[in-house]
Amino acid sequence: EQLISIRGATLAYPTASGDPVQALNPIDLDIRAEAFVSLVGPSGCGKSTLLKILAGLLHQSEGEVTLDGRPLTGPSPNVGVVFQQPVLLPWLTILNNVLLPIRVQKRNVDEYRQRAMDLLAMVGLEGFESRYPSELSGGMQQRVGIVRALVPDPQILLMDEPFGALDALTREQLNDDLQTIWAEQRKTVFFITHSIPEAVYLSDRVLVMSERPGRVIADFEVDIPRPRS
Ligand code: ADP
Ligand code: ADP
Repeated sequence: EQLISIRGATLAYPTASGDPVQALNPIDLDIRAEAFVSLVGPSGCGKSTLLKILAGLLHQSEGEVTLDGRPLTGPSPNVGVVFQQPVLLPWLTILNNVLLPIRVQKRNVDEYRQRAMDLLAMVGLEGFESRYPSELSGGMQQRVGIVRALVPDPQILLMDEPFGALDALTREQLNDDLQTIWAEQRKTVFFITHSIPEAVYLSDRVLVMSERPGRVIADFEVDIPRPRS
């Protein structure tokens, strides 16, 4: 039933002085498939650390993390990640940027081109396929980053303050895009934000983390009607 299961996970960063930085108290957390879970909390409490563990970019120091019942051992094609800065390759067109994970994963690009075009259209970027990243605004570039994470059709989408660098209006538009994507693509979303209103608007579940070393101090369901297909 649970897609993501975290049991007693901690993380200690090694440091030059030899004293590790304990970033997480033991975390126990279950996330069901197709949930939209937001994570809020003060800077430095360990939100990104937890997300990087789920992304397979860091391995927990203790405890166990499973995806679909299997231990998570590293980055997986089934997990898409969006960071605050999309880091697009400036010498590739928008279409080739969003197809890059397909090439990296050595999948057949021809099978994903239409999906890439459709996702770009869904976030208002129809007609921009042959443009280059430098021709796009920050908000458009972040839309490209989101599409790039979605093209391989991962079951899980991890987002670390994806709209943190954007102005308020662009942020609102992207919130709406994200809702459309969630309604149509049925992803399990784990979304870090500094904005509690944004968390409540987007999610069906909000987690609150405390000061470092972080632990989840509140976990509540959001029960407001919102459009879902
Ligand atoms: P948040 O995302 O909530 O701002 P982070 O997960 O980035 O928090 O960081 C949690 C804590 O771990 C912070 O105190 C941070 O300074 C520390 N930290 C993060 N990355 C490293 C690292 N690579 N080396 C040492 N300490 C780190
Ligand atoms: P976020 O914006 O997600 O909270 P941060 O600004 O906390 O991220 O950290 C940005 C990057 O710097 C992350 O990759 C994190 O691991 C790293 N980092 C954060 N704190 C430290 C630290 N004390 N020492 C080394 N690296 C750190």
